This record gives sequence, structure tokens and C-alpha cells, in this order.
Amino acid sequence: MAPRVLPAPAPTIRALLASGRRSFSFEFFPPKTDAGERTLWQAIRELEPLAPTFVSVTYGAGGSTRDRTIRVTERIATETTLTPLGHLTCVGSSRAELRQVIGAYADAGVRNVLALRGDPPGGVEETWEAHPEGLHHAVDLVTLVRQLGDFCVGVAAFPEGHPESTDPDIDARYLARKCAAGACFAITQFFFDADDYFRLRDRASAYGCAIPIIPGIMPVTNLSQIERMAQLSGAAFPPALADRLREVQDDPAAVRAIGVEVAADLTERLLAGGAPGAHFYTLNRSTATREVYQRLQLGARV
Ligand SMILES: Cc1cc2nc3c(=O)[nH]c(=O)nc-3n(C[C@H](O)[C@H](O)[C@H](O)COP(=O)(O)OP(=O)(O)OC[C@H]3O[C@@H](n4cnc5c(N)ncnc54)[C@H](O)[C@@H]3O)c2cc1C
Repeated sequence: MAPRVLPAPAPTIRALLASGRRSFSFEFFPPKTDAGERTLWQAIRELEPLAPTFVSVTYGAGGSTRDRTIRVTERIATETTLTPLGHLTCVGSSRAELRQVIGAYADAGVRNVLALRGDPPGGVEETWEAHPEGLHHAVDLVTLVRQLGDFCVGVAAFPEGHPESTDPDIDARYLARKCAAGACFAITQFFFDADDYFRLRDRASAYGCAIPIIPGIMPVTNLSQIERMAQLSGAAFPPALADRLREVQDDPAAVRAIGVEVAADLTERLLAGGAPGAHFYTLNRSTATREVYQRLQLGARV
């Protein structure tokens, strides 16, 4: 029998970042319904021509989207030209279960994993408790993923500080531990003040963490949705921006125009200050991200 011809492995994000070019990437979430699946794939197809460095797929709270996350990530790996990054959290999983998911990513041809602790199933207000046979912190997951294969591992970072933390310096120290454990890049929570990002980067660097920290950018398209998300993630939503959006909240195009302008201005400031690129939270829609691209004249990155 002729030997099976294996597809060329997708590049790692480590290798893509090492090229020295700026990294632009998009985040999607796994949909719950067939209609949501169609919306997601329309967004993926519309964003694919922009040739992002990578695209990421979130892992639902409590591991609730485990199978859907793996399925969407695998489909991106096999049916598109995009490089996928699969998210993974420690929530509600034993070490053995985490090993299985990491194996499923490997089988699906996914070589990039974002290693996260995750939030308590009841939300950020609750106290975090690890699974009795699971992992306590993201750093432990970085170590586990690196032990199990030649994965490129990313981690989360928080320009406004993690909601459970009162000292940004301690946060930066834990970020540096994730670097030391083998993380090769970080992506931040969304934020609206570029100085928060620069302070985080400088603190991390002071603790010897030299990996690229990619700022997460949320182009606002819906005021109540973003206020809810900001509350859930502990991010501060600037009151002046909320007022501007409230004035036009019945006009979706006007809301999006403001969201795109703010996201583009923030991205421009970050890039000018040396940020290695930007990671756009798309909420499975393409329009706002494409408009930010257009404003910044980023074009396809081929
Ligand atoms: C880019 C990005 C993507 C995300 N994607 C998802 C997703 O797909 N699914 C999902 O459920 N959630 C997701 N989240 C949310 C994330 O899981 C939560 O914010 C979670 O609370 C923190 O995760 P972490 O990986 O930063 O955890 P950690 O690095 O473990 O940090 C959590 C808290 O513990 C502290 N800490 C860290 N290490 C130690 C230690 N050794 N000892 C004591 N304290 C320590 C930190 O300072 C921090 O306060 C994402 C967040 C970001 C920024």
C-alpha cells in the first residue's frame, strides 16, 4: 500500500511571530445553534482574505463547549487557509480530561493552544476552586501542554489587572511565571486605555517576561452587550464612550461607526508605542473588524 500523504503541518504562532512582522488575529466563539454556525462561517470566510496571522476559538465556561470548540478549530485547520489557536481552560476538568482535550487538538492538526485557568462557573464574583484532580493556575496548564507535544502555547494577560487581583505587580509576576513555563506569546483582555497596556508590558518586562504581548481589541457594536461583557470580565468601560454610544444607541450603524473609530484609534496608538500587533474580538461578525482594517489601511497580510 502506498504511504499515506500527510498534509503539511500548520505553522506555529511562535514561528509566525518570529518573522518579526506585526501580528493581526481574530477571535471567534463556538456557536450553539445551526444559525449561529452559519453566521460564524460567513464571518470566517469574509475575514479569511485579510490573511490574519492566526484566528482563535474560545472554550466555553466550565468546558461547556469542549466538543464544539474542537470541531470548529479542526474545521478551520482543515478547510481554510487560516492558522487556528484553540483555547483551553482548567475549569471542571481533571488532569486526565485535560490531557484528552490536548490530544484531540493534536489529532485535529491544531498546534497552537491558549492555556487559561478559566473563571468559576458562576462568574468572576465566585471564588475559584480547582477540580480535585485538576490544575490550579494557568501556569500549570502551560507546563502540561508543553509536556504533551510540540505545541506553541499562548496565555492571557490583563492590562487593567485580573479581576481577582489587587496588585498589578503581582499579576505581572504571575505572567512572567507563565513565560518561564514555556508560553511563547500572550493575548490581553480587551481594554480602552493604551497606557494600561504599556504599563503591563513594562511590568512584565521588568520581571524578565520578553514574549510578545498582543493587545486584545474589542470594536464595540452594541452598547448593552459590551457593558455586560465588561462587567463579566472586570474591564472598565469608559463612561465618556458609553455616553457617546447611548446618544446613538437606536442606530446600529452609528454605534458601529463609533466603535470602529475608537478601536482603530486605540490600535494605532498601541502600534505606534511598539505593540506587536492586535487581536480583534469579532463576536463572530466580520463587518466591524473589516472596517477597522480599512481605517488603518492594513489590507491583506500576505
Ligand atoms: C485573551 C483571553 C482569552 C480568554 N479565553 C477564554 C476562554 O476561551 N474561555 C474561558 O472560560 N475564559 C477565557 N478567558 C478568561 C480567563 O479564563 C479568565 O480571565 C481567568 O479568570 C484567568 O485566566 P488566566 O489564564 O489568566 O489565569 P491565571 O494565570 O491562573 O491567573 C488567574 C488569577 O490567579 C492569579 N495567579 C496566577 N498564578 C498564580 C499562582 N501561582 N499563585 C497564586 N495566584 C496566581 C493571577 O494573578 C490571577 O489573579 C480569556 C481571557 C483572555 C484575556
